Amino acid sequence: HDIAKPCISFAHFMFDDALLAAIAKAGFSKPTPIQQQAVPVGLSGRDLVAVSKTGSGKTAAFVWPMLVHMMDQPELERGDGPIGLVLAPTRELASQICVEAKKFGKAFGVRAAVVYGGASKTDQFKELRSGGVEIIVATPGRLIDLIKMKAVNLQRVSYLVLDEADRMFDLGFEPQVRSICNAIRPDRQTLLFSATFAKRVEKLARDVLTDPIRITIGNVGQSNTDVEQTVVVFPDDSYKWDWLTKRLRQFVEEGTVIIFIGRKAGVVELSENLNKNGFPCTAFHGDLMQYERDKVISDLKTQRVKVLVATDVAARGLDIKSVRTVVNFDVARDIDSHVHRCGRTGRAGEKGKAYTLITNSEDKFASELVTNFEESLVDVPPDLMTLAM
Ligand code: ADP
Ligand code: MG
Repeated sequence: HDIAKPCISFAHFMFDDALLAAIAKAGFSKPTPIQQQAVPVGLSGRDLVAVSKTGSGKTAAFVWPMLVHMMDQPELERGDGPIGLVLAPTRELASQICVEAKKFGKAFGVRAAVVYGGASKTDQFKELRSGGVEIIVATPGRLIDLIKMKAVNLQRVSYLVLDEADRMFDLGFEPQVRSICNAIRPDRQTLLFSATFAKRVEKLARDVLTDPIRITIGNVGQSNTDVEQTVVVFPDDSYKWDWLTKRLRQFVEEGTVIIFIGRKAGVVELSENLNKNGFPCTAFHGDLMQYERDKVISDLKTQRVKVLVATDVAARGLDIKSVRTVVNFDVARDIDSHVHRCGRTGRAGEKGKAYTLITNSEDKFASELVTNFEESLVDVPPDLMTLAM
């Protein structure tokens, strides 16, 4: 198989004009990272497993190829049944997806219906039985009820989406999801989206997808929006000490703090200065012996140490629940390191804050940061924008 290439502009998707117009009307100016990668795979007909955080634009990433897929089908006859089926964990999500499908499908006269528990089964039955529904967005339990009532048959479904697969598991829908998948023709295209790739999701993917392409976006490349990022622009380095010491006590009250500095010498100097001035902290860098590093990490975990001053050695993988604040006392060497540094907080659904201190001479990093914020759908602070220009 050819690997579908990512597309960084809507023009490259080769959508027809009506769909491009609907996208422009939605106010989207360029595809999000997950869209850049998932849309070409969706269009190629391959199965897909995509992992990316909520808020990254996954809905459109499967809705657009679904619409193209529908347009490629032979004329639909009334009562033939839907072609696209989306399973989602909750009624709110199902409704939202249906709204998106209608918004972008309107130009083609696509008919979409949503069915979920807790609303009138009779009304949903009538809507499905009236025929002509080409896309169904459903929560699994209600869809199974309606299938049993013969409100709908799935024989024509050839594009299946499992959205927020991990949530569907959390809510106990696995048996229903599997039984629906088994009721759909095996030559369908299946796309699975999940915010995390838990083992049980992996197992489902193996069972219901065929040789899928895998896309992961989130930890690498994109900022976690559970971390509120603040960028502070200074004329030069001399302003940073005052900024930090004015806020550090407050940060410590909120939880563990990690202060990142690019160089070991900088780590040693800042940690000594902080300790001398009544801000207890511990230094962490690659020159420490392994046992010393282990000790620091265990002290952090037990919160004996509340402030860590560290090089990028601590930027990856450290998973300490109590970290609420990351301070990039100087900017990371590249944007990936920045994302990893900030990712030390805001873990497992917790909120966190990251402060990036940047000076007027660091315009190159500023512009990389702007791009990353835009791709992560994070608002770009005006100061940063100015510096980047
Ligand atoms: P996810 O499913 O990943 O949680 P959504 O599909 O709900 O994300 O999209 C999150 C928000 O981003 C929605 O308000 C959506 O309209 C918006 N959005 C999606 N794609 C784009 C884009 N290319 N440009 C700007 N906004 C977008
Ligand atoms: Mg979503």
